Amino acid sequence: MPGLKLEDIHKSFGETHAVNGVSFEVAQGEIVALLGPSGCGKSTILAIIAGLEPPDRGELYWDGASLKDVPTNKRGFGLMFQDFALFPHMNVSDNVAFGLKMLQLPQDETRIRVEEILALVGLPDYEGRDVNTLSGGEQQRVALARSLAPQPRLLMLDEPLGSLDRNLRERLVLDLGEILRRMRQTAIYVTHDQEEAFALADRVVVMNAGRVEQEDTHQGIYNQPASTFVANFLGLTNLLSGKAHMQDGQTYIETALGQFPVKGEAHGQVTVLVRPDGMRVNDKDSYTLKGKMVKRSFRGSTCRAIIEVNGIPLTFDFLSNTPLPGEGESVRLAFDPQESFSVLQNS
Ligand code: ADP
Repeated sequence: MPGLKLEDIHKSFGETHAVNGVSFEVAQGEIVALLGPSGCGKSTILAIIAGLEPPDRGELYWDGASLKDVPTNKRGFGLMFQDFALFPHMNVSDNVAFGLKMLQLPQDETRIRVEEILALVGLPDYEGRDVNTLSGGEQQRVALARSLAPQPRLLMLDEPLGSLDRNLRERLVLDLGEILRRMRQTAIYVTHDQEEAFALADRVVVMNAGRVEQEDTHQGIYNQPASTFVANFLGLTNLLSGKAHMQDGQTYIETALGQFPVKGEAHGQVTVLVRPDGMRVNDKDSYTLKGKMVKRSFRGSTCRAIIEVNGIPLTFDFLSNTPLPGEGESVRLAFDPQESFSVLQNS
C-alpha cells in the first residue's frame, strides 16, 4: 500500500547540513521508527513532512501525489511531541476533542469518538477528569488520544516518551505499539533509543549526520548492521579490522583472533563484528579461543563479561546462571564463527 514517500530530501540551516539526501517510504498502516543520535536530523525530517519547513531539495509524496504545494493544515498529518502540553484549563474530554472541534465534527459524533478513543488508550471514564490531577503516564495517554482523535493519515511522534521514567516508558512503548496497530495508524516514531524503536516499529530507519545508514526490520539491523556506526549505536562494540577472501564459494576472514569461515560474501578490508551473545564458556565446539576474564558485572538476567583475547578486550553477555571464571582467571570460549561473527564490508 502506498503512503508516504521521501525522495532525496536535503535541508541546511546556514552551514549545517541537517538533512543530506534522505529517502525512505512508510506504507499505509506501517509504523516506522526514525532512530539516531541527537542532532542527526530526525526532527527536521518531521518538520519537512509536516510542511513546517520546506526542503531545499527533494520531493515528498502521499499516495503518489506530490505534497509540494499542500500546506500543513491540508496534509492531514498529526504530530505529537515530547513536551506535548495538555490544555490545563480543559478537562480530559475537551483536550481529546480539541482537534475534532477544529474539524467541526458534530457534538454527538465528537462525544462518541472521544469515548472510544479514551477506552482505546486505557482511560475509560476519564472524560470529566481535571488533567492537572493525572499521573505522567495518564497525561501521556491523553496526549496520544488527542493526536489520534482526528484520525490523521499519518501520525508523527517525536520522542513522545522521552520525559518519562524508564519503567513507565518500557510499559507505555508496548501499549503505544498495540494502540497504533489496533487503529491501523500509519506512524513515524522518532527516537534515539534503540530499544524503543525495536519494541514498537515494523521497520527502523537508522540515521547518522543527516543521512540514512540502514533501513530494515529490527532483526535485519541487529543481525547484519550495515556499518560500524550502526553496530556501535546498537551497542555492538566488538569490532575488529580484518581481511576477507573467498575460496570454493566460502568466505574466510583473517583477524587478530585468527582465521575463520563466515556467512555471506566479502572481499578485501572488512570490519568484523564479534557478536556479544555468540560465545559459550568451557563448552566444546569446532572453534575455541583462550582468554582472560577481566571484569564481570551482573545485569539481572544476563551477566556482562569483558574477556581479553590475544590482548583485545571483548564484551560478551552470558545468561546469569552460566558458571563463569573469576576475574583474572583464564576462560575458554567455544563458538561457531558462522553465527558469532558478522562481516561489515568497509565503505
Ligand atoms: P535530531 O532531531 O535528530 O536531534 P535535528 O533535526 O533537531 O536533529 O537537528 C539536526 C541539525 O540541524 C542539528 O545540528 C541542529 O542544530 C540543526 N538545526 C535544526 N533546526 C535548526 C534551525 N531551525 N536553525 C539552525 N539549525 C538547526
